Amino acid sequence: MIEMMNSAINRPVEMRINVKKVIVVGGGAAGMMAAISSAESGCKVTLIEHNEKLGKKVFITGKGRCNVTNAGDIEDILNNIVTNKKFMYSSLYTFSNYMMMDMLEKNGLKLKTERGNRVFPESDKSSDVIKTLEKILREKNVEVMLRKNVDNILVQNGHVTGVSVGGKIIDCDKVILATGGISYRSTGSDGSGMIIAKKNGHNISECYPALVPLTVSEDYAEKMQGVSLKNINVKLYDGKKEIYSAFGEMLFTHFGVTGPVILSASSIITKRLHEGKKILLEIDFKPALTDEKLDARILREFDKNINRDFKNSLDSMLPKKVIPVVIEYSGIDGDKKINTISREERKKLLNALKHFTLTIDGTRDFNEAIITQGGISVKDINPGTMESKIVNGLYFAGEMIDIDAFTGGYNLQLAWSTGYLAGMEE
Ligand SMILES: Cc1cc2nc3c(=O)[nH]c(=O)nc-3n(C[C@H](O)[C@H](O)[C@H](O)COP(=O)(O)OP(=O)(O)OC[C@H]3O[C@@H](n4cnc5c(N)ncnc54)[C@H](O)[C@@H]3O)c2cc1C
Repeated sequence: MIEMMNSAINRPVEMRINVKKVIVVGGGAAGMMAAISSAESGCKVTLIEHNEKLGKKVFITGKGRCNVTNAGDIEDILNNIVTNKKFMYSSLYTFSNYMMMDMLEKNGLKLKTERGNRVFPESDKSSDVIKTLEKILREKNVEVMLRKNVDNILVQNGHVTGVSVGGKIIDCDKVILATGGISYRSTGSDGSGMIIAKKNGHNISECYPALVPLTVSEDYAEKMQGVSLKNINVKLYDGKKEIYSAFGEMLFTHFGVTGPVILSASSIITKRLHEGKKILLEIDFKPALTDEKLDARILREFDKNINRDFKNSLDSMLPKKVIPVVIEYSGIDGDKKINTISREERKKLLNALKHFTLTIDGTRDFNEAIITQGGISVKDINPGTMESKIVNGLYFAGEMIDIDAFTGGYNLQLAWSTGYLAGMEE
């Protein structure tokens, strides 16, 4: 009896009767994982990708090194999800970051963990992540169709029955849409999957660029363009309300601000900015010093430079390009001699160093956004299976769903986890 069962399992998938035919649309992170998991569940899987190769976006992740996941515990992963954290519980517990690391390592990809638990391939090559996933797809006999665009799904009596590829129908029992968001469209994520979902009755939460540089109203940023600041603290204010605070690194550009703390900040405010709100960004250039300690430090600098002009007295405290801007912001005449600077003026300098405030008036567009915020409404998806609540047999995975997270390998993990769950059979 056991022998009979084994021989049935070992038989090629196509020869087994009643094998479920699954079509996965989109050969990105979520789609590749959905295809692997679906094949593991014993289905006959076809993965359809409209690019000439798989994983074009994965290729550019982590500046070509691919921050493939994060090695923190599940609570940490959940705490780094910005939108619809609760929706992610089932998929993260079903296919965790540790399971992802295990899958890659078992298939020959060595990994390393860097600062902030960020996990990368030891080779520092994103292409090695793609090659490993392609190897697993081959071993699981997943059929890969490249250069084919899925333009719709077929639905009969509320159940999906196939997909349309350039008007040609391919029949199947289950469809997994994993077509990505709408950022970095040149990688293939052009929003066509969301249009298909919408046509078939699903609600789409408004999409905004996220993990994206921010634009600034004042010309101060432009004047400091190219300056990278480490160990600064930034705060965001919506009116008087503080809505974000972070310590780290940022960069000034010709249009505004970017860098790690700014990209994360953008995820918190992108919706408000696109609704026309102005948000204030407060930079503390000296977060390690209290006002009293910083004042003492300024006094020491002034003592050393007692006969110099004010504008020549801050060299040891700030990058060269920042000094004239901080002076302008403080309102103190840069040509004043240090020995004539009043206590009141010193207070203004202190304020400029601890509370340098810029007006954020927008974000850069989707072409510069690491991820898309928004997408298929989670209300239309069963979080325990990833199946649509509107069309039976239709599943969703990855960035096209209204879920997103901060940087650190979390967004790819959302794609791996939702992809894996969408592919699983009960
Ligand atoms: C510059 C950059 C760097 C990033 N770095 C990191 C990082 O280091 N770590 C991290 O966790 N996240 C990172 N991300 C985010 C991460 O890449 C995405 O969240 C993730 O790739 C989403 O996976 P996905 O499968 O949902 O979508 P995608 O990877 O975008 O895949 C969707 C696929 O579907 C295909 N497709 C779309 N429509 C159709 C259709 N109609 N028919 C057929 N095929 C279709 C597309 O061509 C594409 O290949 C980065 C993103 C960018 C842009």
